Formats: sequence, structure tokens, C-alpha cells
Amino acid sequence: MTNTPVVNKKNKKRSEIFGIIALSTLFIAFSVIQDIVRIDIMPDSLRGVLSSMQILLAMSMVVISVTGYRVAIILMILSFIPRFIMLLNNNNSVLPGVSISIVGIATILIVHLYLVSLEKKERELFALAHTDALTDLPNRRSLKQKMLSLISNSRNSNGRFAVAMIDLDNFKNINDTIGHDWGDKVLSEIAVRWKSIVTENDYICRLGGDDFALVVNNYKSLEELDNHLHQFLDKVMEKFILKGKDYFVTASMGVSIFPNDSNETSQLLKYADMAMFVAKNQGKKRLVYFDNMMNDAVENNVEVEHVIRRALETDTFRLVYQPQFDIKTKKLRGFETLIRLSDSEGKQVSPADFVPIAEKSSLIIDVDKWVLRHAMMDFLPFVEKIPEMILSVNISANHILDDSFIGDIDRILEDTHFPEKNLEIELTESVFVNSLERAKTIMEKLKDRGIKIALDDFGTGYSSLSYMRDLPFDLLKIDKSFVDTINDGPKEESFVAAIISLGKVMQFDIISEGVEEQNQLDVLKKLGCDFVQGYIWGKPLSLDRAIEVMAQN
Ligand code: C2E
Ligand code: CA
Ligand code: CA
Repeated sequence: MTNTPVVNKKNKKRSEIFGIIALSTLFIAFSVIQDIVRIDIMPDSLRGVLSSMQILLAMSMVVISVTGYRVAIILMILSFIPRFIMLLNNNNSVLPGVSISIVGIATILIVHLYLVSLEKKERELFALAHTDALTDLPNRRSLKQKMLSLISNSRNSNGRFAVAMIDLDNFKNINDTIGHDWGDKVLSEIAVRWKSIVTENDYICRLGGDDFALVVNNYKSLEELDNHLHQFLDKVMEKFILKGKDYFVTASMGVSIFPNDSNETSQLLKYADMAMFVAKNQGKKRLVYFDNMMNDAVENNVEVEHVIRRALETDTFRLVYQPQFDIKTKKLRGFETLIRLSDSEGKQVSPADFVPIAEKSSLIIDVDKWVLRHAMMDFLPFVEKIPEMILSVNISANHILDDSFIGDIDRILEDTHFPEKNLEIELTESVFVNSLERAKTIMEKLKDRGIKIALDDFGTGYSSLSYMRDLPFDLLKIDKSFVDTINDGPKEESFVAAIISLGKVMQFDIISEGVEEQNQLDVLKKLGCDFVQGYIWGKPLSLDRAIEVMAQN
């Protein structure tokens, strides 16, 4: 980067002054010609031409700049005064000159006023394009310009500055519970609170939605910066009174620093954003500074995405199947399909690590389809022989809510001829958190086809009685974390007891996941759990080993 804007500005000013000087010199020259050449030698027509030329010159100065306008007006008046005096002395030959001068001055004034109003409009438009209408704060465009100007000034001053991305944590709740109008009030109120603490070294902007950015320069130490930034978070956390009720909002902040982290605006913004996401992941309402390790994590994500894509292209995912048993009779219920992936060096990548990365893009849809198709092909011969055998497949919330989902299922069922009644889809509570009605419609379509639905990781999400009553599950899967602690004490045990009796009331079957020990199994049996899936009776198995288990049953 160079400091081009400053150089350009200087050059512009210079040519402006040069232009004005050249035009005024011509103007004066025309006056002198008119004055020194005797009236009787010069014909009136030539005099008129010269006066008109002078007006043209003056007008050109007006167009150049405000300074040009001032010079033009002064020159016009100066050339008008002697003619006017001559006219007062009954020298009528200057009458045409005087009237041309008056017309000229008036035209110059009008043109100037017109240009001023144009400029004002331009400024208003500029402000409109650079300000956020709701909060009156500068917007994203202004932020970038501000950063660019700080960067170009820093060439001379070795200055540094911090860029903070601020995102409100629970703002969606406010919008959902009391409506968008009140949400807007909260946003403007936050802007007002911040305006009360900004200094001349701060530049606070709204980027859209509940995203804000703050640029701080001229801070003396990182400690001072840190305190200052925390003030902004604290201002958000002060109480809001909306519709007579108290509400509390928190915010997360990610910070990158020029020039330490980068000397480019887009990188600085990206890094501050990354730090903000880390703040969110660490539990929100906090401030996190960018660290190069974050970049490594992103690079790792990109690498894992490559590995997933390659596995899809080369058909090198593997599937394992974990058996599920009846807790009383130990009869085989079926299998949960679990995906396995190896990287280019043959190292296993856990689905707990790569599934969330695939979920960030539409890759997960291809992964889910791959699993559905291959698991169904693997199991087709066996469900034909054992009609009650269940094949369970995990489907990501993103895929279930995608418009393509039902079509994908139908196509794979048709291609594989797999019987619908033997298929079970495992979904998590995240499917209905944001879109209960839509989830319900999709689930009903699955039920219409005879497909079973299991609610995975039950108890870890936003479990609410109302959706459980409304949605057509067949099976609740009690999450491993509850099974892990079931022997810790009476409270832990009664918690699982409550889940089981709730499931019973709703007439769902109940399975416990991750059962590893006999005493866990004993308590679950006592509490009336129906099925078990866990290392105690069966780890995830290759297809061959799964076939052996089916044969034994
Ligand atoms: P999940 O659906 O809750 O799967 C259960 C996980 O617990 C599996 O881990 C399984 O191997 C493990 N597990 C089962 N019993 C025990 C036990 O007794 N002890 C212990 N320590 N672990 C046990 P896995 O295979 O690593 O899968 C992790 C997660 O990855 C799954 O959690 C699921 O969310 C996701 N996942 C796995 N396969 C697929 C897939 O094909 N598609 C999608 N969308 N997600 C998948
Ligand atoms: Ca599962
Ligand atoms: Ca689970």
C-alpha cells in the first residue's frame, strides 16, 4: 500500500489553483485590452465579444471550486465598478458592458448556488450510503474507509489500531419473544449507550443485524485497550426495560490488531471475526484476541473438507454398525450406522470432528446420502430375511431441513429397494429448535412412508415437552452423558427415571446409549428402559462382524 489518496489530493489542489490563476490572468488581460485600447479604435462588437469571454472565464472558475467562485465574483465586481462610474458620468458607450457585467454576476451567483445545492445533495447521499439508518452509526462501507485511512496515515506515524467485531449473544431471543420492533429498540439503545462512551479515537459502526464493529486507535497500552473494549461489552449488559419487563443482553467480541495480526483491512476483519467465533464457542459474553492458532484451526477445517471430498469421490468412507439389544431378552433390535474416515496418511478422523465441519457446508448432504445408500445396500439381504431388523442412520439437521431431503430419501429407497419399515432416521433436537412446523411436516412425510424416527442425544438439547407431544417419534435415545453419571447418586438416577417415564407417557420406545458397565445396565433395566446400545454388549462392527451377530441371534 502507498499513501496515494493524500498525494492525489495535493495534486488536485495544485491543478485547481493553477487553473484559477490561468483563467484570472486571461480575464484581467481582456479587461486591460478593453481599457487601454481607445474606445474609438475598438468596435463595440469586439468589446462585447471580450466581455462575453470574460463571463465565460469567470463561469469556468466557478465550476472549478468555491475559491474559483470567490475569485470570479471579485474580478467581475472589480471590472464592473469603473464601467459603472463611467456610466454615472454619462458615458453611455459603456452601457452594453455594464449590462453584460450585471447579467454575468447574476449568472455566476445562480450557477454557484446551484452547484452548492448539488454538493449538499451529494453529501446527503454519501451520508445515506455510509450510515446505518436504525442507529445512525457509520456502516460497513465507512468502516473499511476508516481502516484504509488509518492504515495510510500509519505510514507516517507508525500507528497501530485494534478492530473489534461485536455480536450480541442472545438477541434472537429478544426478537422472538417480544418482536422485531422491540429488537430494533434494543439495537438503537445500545448505539446510544456506546455513543456516550466513545472517544475521538473510537469509530463504532453497525454492520447489519446484531453485528457491530469498533476501531480503536491511539491507545497507549494493550491493558488500556482491553479496559476500554470491556467498557463497550459492559454497556450492552446493562438492563433493558421492554414492555415493563427487565431484559438482559450480552455480547461477544473478537479483536485483531494492526499491524501485528495483519496490515490488510479484509484480513483484519476476517481475523476479528474468527476471534469472535472463538468467543462464542468459549461460552459467549467475552472478549477474545485473534491468535494465529485460530488460523491453523481454519486451515485444518479446509484440509478436513478436502479429505471428505476425496472420500466422496473415491468412495472410501467406511461404515460400521453398532448393535442395539432388547434390555430384558438381549434380542437384537437392529444396528446404528456409524461412518468412518481415514485421511491421506491412513489416520482415522473421528466423525465427531469431521461431521461438524461437513455441516458447515452442503458437504454433509452428500455424506448423508452416501451413508444412506451404502448402509441400505449392505443390509438389504438381511432385512429380507429378518423382517423386524432395524437399520438406523444418522441424518444431520441441515440435511433434514433442506428442500432436497424427502426427494433424496425416495430416490435412494427406490434405487436400493430397501423396505421403508426397516429404516430408522436418527435426528437431533437441533432440527426443531428454529423451525418446529417445518420439522413436523418433514417428519410426517417420513412417517407416511413407514420410516421410523429416533430422537438422538436426548436431554442434551433444548428438550421441551410441547414438541415431544407434537412430533411423531418412535424412539428416544438417552444420551451417553446421562448414562455415564447414572450411578453417581439418587439425583442422577431419578433424572434418567424421569426421562424414561416421560417417554413412556408419550408412548415412545427408549434406548440408552453408551452403556459400558453392568451397574449402569442394572439401573436402566430397573427403571424400565427398553433397549441398550453400548460397548457392554456390542461395539461398532464391520459388516462381516455385524452379519455374525445377526446369525447368532
Ligand atoms: P452418536 O450418533 O451419538 O453416535 C454414538 C457415538 O457413541 C458413536 O461414536 C459410538 O461409537 C459411540 N459409542 C457407542 N457406544 C459407546 C460406549 O459404550 N462407550 C463409548 N465411549 N462410546 C460409545 P462415533 O461413531 O464416533 O460417532 C460420533 C458422532 O458422529 C455420532 O454421535 C454422530 O453424531 C456422528 N455421526 C457418526 N456417524 C454419522 C453419520 O453417518 N452421519 C452423520 N450425519 N453423523 C454421524
Ligand atoms: Ca446417533
Ligand atoms: Ca447419540
